Amino acid sequence: MPINVCITGAAGRMGQRLIALCAEDPELRLACAVESPGHAAVGKDAGQIAGLGRELNVPVTERIPAGGGLGVIVDFTLHAAAAQHAETAAALGVPIVIGTTGLTDDEKRRVAEAARRVPVLHAPNFSVGVNVLFKTAEMVARTLGEAYNVEIVEAHHNQKVDAPSGTALGLAEAIARGLNRNLKDVAVYGRHGLVGKRPPKEIGIHALRMGDVVGEHTAYFAIGGERVELTHKASSRDTFARGALRAAKWLVRSNKGPGMYTMAQVLGLE
Ligand code: NAD
Repeated sequence: MPINVCITGAAGRMGQRLIALCAEDPELRLACAVESPGHAAVGKDAGQIAGLGRELNVPVTERIPAGGGLGVIVDFTLHAAAAQHAETAAALGVPIVIGTTGLTDDEKRRVAEAARRVPVLHAPNFSVGVNVLFKTAEMVARTLGEAYNVEIVEAHHNQKVDAPSGTALGLAEAIARGLNRNLKDVAVYGRHGLVGKRPPKEIGIHALRMGDVVGEHTAYFAIGGERVELTHKASSRDTFARGALRAAKWLVRSNKGPGMYTMAQVLGLE
């Protein structure tokens, strides 16, 4: 039986690719496509919105429908909407995969609260390569140790609304874990003015916004005499969309109970 998928943020860059990939996957069935109230896509067919050139007989709606045997919700929207959709998922008893980034602490708390009632997988990046990078960066940080200066640089397209990217923060958290540092104590977001000499434990995080860059991340580990650079470059959003749908299948097919799950678990990296 295919899994009934509800995609929120249907007309967005990610939403359109999720609809397209869902439509061609025999294990999945697009059951609903949701956009923000008043959005021009509401009422139109999801296939048309995704540019498929054919109808999927799924009209875009303003909210997630109750009932209808939903198997999973996949959310790539805006921070406030993601928290709201996690609460709806909990109320409906439906697992949710969240790719949306830039959530405030309070919105993260609401997502964690939803995870007490349904399975939730919230990942800053669904690409397999980036999740391998997280693991590798943690190991490299632990092995190189205290003396290396760590800096992270990310680049994204000029339409992205949050900075730094959720992926850069995920990378910084992985490195901080490897170094037994608390990211909140050592993170520095950009530098400007007379900032003084670099404190050794600092982790610098820098965001570039330009053109149509899908997503690039580099972690630098530098010491007098050498520098290690770990880089990931995404060239298509399909890498994220495929990973999110893989996570959705994993949550449903392995019958996960309520709780917070990670992409590393989906990929067997932990
Ligand atoms: P986008 O702006 O192109 O699309 C977001 C869509 O969500 C828009 O169409 C918007 O109208 C819609 N939306 C807003 N509020 C809504 C609501 N209440 N209900 C339904 N739809 C609503 O953005 P995008 O590039 O598709 O990215 C979306 C999010 O996903 C961002 O937070 C981005 O950082 C994140 N992202 C994550 C990954 C990952 O792998 N985790 C990858 C790419 C993007």
